[in-house]
Amino acid sequence: MTEAAATKINLHPRNLHRGRYDFAQLIASSPELAAFVAKNEYGNETINFADPAAVKALNRALLLHDYHIKDWDIPAQYLCPPIPGRADYLHYLADLLGESNGGIIPRGKAVRALDIGTGANCIYPLIGHAVYGWQFVGTEIDKTALQNAQQIVEANQLGDAVELRFQGSPTSIFEGVTYADEYFDLTLCNPPFHASLAEARQGTQRKWQNLGKESNKHKNPVLNFGGQSMELCCEGGEEAFVTRMIEESVSGRDHCMWFTTLISKSSSLPHIYRLIKNIGAVDNRTFEMSQGQKKSRFVAWTFMSKEQRGARGKPKP
Ligand code: SAH
Repeated sequence: MTEAAATKINLHPRNLHRGRYDFAQLIASSPELAAFVAKNEYGNETINFADPAAVKALNRALLLHDYHIKDWDIPAQYLCPPIPGRADYLHYLADLLGESNGGIIPRGKAVRALDIGTGANCIYPLIGHAVYGWQFVGTEIDKTALQNAQQIVEANQLGDAVELRFQGSPTSIFEGVTYADEYFDLTLCNPPFHASLAEARQGTQRKWQNLGKESNKHKNPVLNFGGQSMELCCEGGEEAFVTRMIEESVSGRDHCMWFTTLISKSSSLPHIYRLIKNIGAVDNRTFEMSQGQKKSRFVAWTFMSKEQRGARGKPKP
């Protein structure tokens, strides 16, 4: 691992996870983490990032220590999110909202965000509310995931800040989960990115190789970092999912300032830009992010002019 990867200097400047993890502090908040921490070949304390139980213990410690989430768990096999990368998306979104608010990031519950596919982990609402005080609506098609997210919300007394809604149609994005008179400052999404379970497995195999963990024992690895089939897959993969999202955003054009989504495959970008242009969005942005060696990005589009965004950005009564 390079020094940049170890210290994560490429993360957003406000990201709390740019430095090395302070395991002593994390263990002080969350003693269960101690069992997973060991020195690596350079003498630095770390955990085995290929072990889902270790990643989960690290997440619980980070969520408690940095975001005051005292009760967080996910069922076995559900996606266990890398916290630094998830926080990065939210910080760049905050910058985007700040643009139309005189350069000042709007904080507090007047800001409403819609998280498409919040998962069992509910990670974006938890971090977004803890850092910026925003209100979230999270949607989900997987009932077990939704129930777990609801359990997290209730256990942390966040019912006033996070509302969860069941999406009954896997091919719908905003339809059926938003009301006609509702307004959001932004939507965000970490889309299911594989077209099939076979493709998901290949991705996992690659991840094992990148982590240097490929061995005979792991010739047929489980989906490490968790991830149920439905969480990771949708018909047509990420590009089809995002295509539907962009198409559906047209009918919500006056009900949301910025529509955004992560895009894991840069090869999808030309198609996505074409679509955004075709639907008549007036502005779009791409935010490049990198977590160590992993690069990702999110794309944002809006149907509101700069002036309209400025008016919307003003504190709401
Ligand atoms: N936001 C979480 C989970 C992302 S995985 C994280 O970043 O870790 C993608 C999630 O989208 C899965 O939980 C999956 O069940 C959900 N999903 C798939 N199609 C959906 C749809 N049409 N509407 C809402 N959620 C959907």
